[in-house]
Amino acid sequence: MPEFVLSPNILVVPILISLVIVELVISKAMGRSVYNFQDSITSINIGIMSQFVNATGAVISAFMYAVIEMKYGTFEWDMTNPFTWIFALLLYDFLYYWVHRTGHEVNMFWASHITHHSSDEFNLSTALRQASTGFYFKWIFYMPLAVLGIPVQVFVVVGLIDLLYQVWVHTRLVGRLGWIEYVLVTPSNHRVHHGKNDYCIDKNYGGVFCVWDRMFGTYADERAEEPIVYGLKKKLNSWNPVWSNLHYWVSMFKKAGQQDNWGDKLMCFFAPPAWSPDGNSAPKPLAEMPVTDEIFVEKTPLSIKLSGLMMTIVSAVVLVLYLGTKQQLPGMVQVACAAAAVCTFALVGYFWTQGNRKELER
Ligand SMILES: [Zn+2]
Ligand SMILES: [Zn+2]
Repeated sequence: MPEFVLSPNILVVPILISLVIVELVISKAMGRSVYNFQDSITSINIGIMSQFVNATGAVISAFMYAVIEMKYGTFEWDMTNPFTWIFALLLYDFLYYWVHRTGHEVNMFWASHITHHSSDEFNLSTALRQASTGFYFKWIFYMPLAVLGIPVQVFVVVGLIDLLYQVWVHTRLVGRLGWIEYVLVTPSNHRVHHGKNDYCIDKNYGGVFCVWDRMFGTYADERAEEPIVYGLKKKLNSWNPVWSNLHYWVSMFKKAGQQDNWGDKLMCFFAPPAWSPDGNSAPKPLAEMPVTDEIFVEKTPLSIKLSGLMMTIVSAVVLVLYLGTKQQLPGMVQVACAAAAVCTFALVGYFWTQGNRKELER
């Protein structure tokens, strides 16, 4: 029986879920409605599933980084010098900008990142809605850090800082923050990024600093006179964590299959999401998008709500146990655990989505 070892990354799970509960309570006290039960449960489940997958994916990324850094690293960096950390964070965040921008502007990367944008809400639970399919390519973007010789430990820590910083910016409860808006990514800045209003599309890709957006022309200020509508133009209409990760892959391959020449087939993977074979590659204005009927019940039965809550609590506990013991498990067993988690979420997510559908949809 593997022994449970408590590490800082395990504490992140209960801390993030607690922050969601705190924001929920504060929003209720303020008389604001920024949460939808099913949506938030789904966001948390997507986050838990991504932890099962990325726990192994992150090891692969760090391993690839370490191999390249050892072979090609050009400079020696002193880990006790604060300049090393500041430089690494700045360069990491600059590269993150391009990872994120590519994640929106190239179809096969959008297929992965779309998961994070698949919520119609915007709150701290949205921050947990992380893709399970990004680990296979993201590490490639950070190789300049490895080639410069930045130690893998610094890479992992600044990566974690960059990721965790982005949690708090997923809130509607914090307004604009004066001069900070010129330097850092803020809730206001990131609300624009999650909007589907025409002025929000492909804007504000920054992770910690918004200066990259200002430098490369992708910055947009939040407009007080135009309330932001959150989520995807084509709604996901599912509470299934696996489908939220796979739906765009399925439609991308389908679209490629329908093309009759290889150029167009390749464009389905490498062109921006708005691309179509007739040469139209501009995003459709929001007003022209078909209004999708709401297919879910408005007042969800208590039994469905409780079953969803139970699913989340059980999977969070299993995740903590898994993260605490996985170091002692062979690589293949870790992959099998991640696969088992994905299959379980697929099954439970399917039944929960069905349970939430309107009678007439059954
Ligand atoms: Zn994004
Ligand atoms: Zn976000």
